[in-house]
Amino acid sequence: MKALVHVAPNKFEIQDFPKPSPGPGEVLLRVKACGICGSDIHGMTGHTGRRIPPIIMGHEASGVIEETGGGVKNFKVGDRITFDSTVFCNSCKYCLQGLVNLCSNRMVVGVSPGEYRKHGAMAEYVTLPEQILYKLPDTVGFHQGALIEPLSIAMHAVNRGRLHINEKVVVMGCGIIGLMTMQCARLNGCGTLIAIDMNETRLEMAKKVGADIVINPLKEKSLDVILSHTLGEGADAVFDAVGLDKTANDALSYVRRGGKLILIGNLTPTAPFGLQSVVTREISIYGSCASAGEYQDSVDMIGSGRIKVDWYISKVAPLEEGQLWFDKLLAGKDPLYKVLLEP
Ligand SMILES: [Zn+2]
Ligand SMILES: [Zn+2]
Repeated sequence: MKALVHVAPNKFEIQDFPKPSPGPGEVLLRVKACGICGSDIHGMTGHTGRRIPPIIMGHEASGVIEETGGGVKNFKVGDRITFDSTVFCNSCKYCLQGLVNLCSNRMVVGVSPGEYRKHGAMAEYVTLPEQILYKLPDTVGFHQGALIEPLSIAMHAVNRGRLHINEKVVVMGCGIIGLMTMQCARLNGCGTLIAIDMNETRLEMAKKVGADIVINPLKEKSLDVILSHTLGEGADAVFDAVGLDKTANDALSYVRRGGKLILIGNLTPTAPFGLQSVVTREISIYGSCASAGEYQDSVDMIGSGRIKVDWYISKVAPLEEGQLWFDKLLAGKDPLYKVLLEP
């Protein structure tokens, strides 16, 4: 089969790769569309250590089941599906509590951090266990289907933050996860919604998806603007969808006393942190990783049109152009949200 293989830092090759065959409880998916995730882009440089070559990336995808392994019960050949990126064991103490994103034996599709290598969907075919599959409603095309996984990440972050009606929310970073977080926060009944990004095009998109106020920190002082819209108190909940030293600490400074900080991005593995500010102001901090139980909700919200995702699809390209689009996304010069590859 044709596959886009990450063979060395910043290097991809189209290869003729052995077609996988589904084991017990698995299906063989004919991939129709696969998104390039931010984690793939940061992974390609080798810095995150989570895409050790050779690896076929791709965990945001959709397709049609072409073959089923023994014991597959709820899916059949011809089903149009998408899948959760987390392969969980269903038997450890976390899985038994529904915390599948924290599974002790967790693997992520299209990831190779050293302990395992699970090839992903930037290929004609991928094998997947039945328990992570979700059927696509007729209203959801393959392109939209590839955006269900990132939506589940944003939905999980909003659920982690336990938002209440009318809470004032700040989202830092208007990439796709930040933007989807705004859509979810809006649907969850948030009050004033403030978006922060240094890119004007992204801030325009933030307005489109529901932000009331947008701030470009290159042009104005974010904290002053936030205080002016929160009675001088700060926001009830702040989401950091970037994950740098600076953004995490800035985010912390935007939270009101007793408020919440939800950390989604982790571009840097470690960061010095305002310990005293957290302690003396009783800030609740939530890490948010992948999703746990939000997947069907993401399918339903896109299927019903309550959450729109078409505007995020910047480009649909053949798999053969993978290197080109990875390079463009890494360079970050073009205003791209989601690039989908079609094998
Ligand atoms: Zn992803
Ligand atoms: Zn488990």
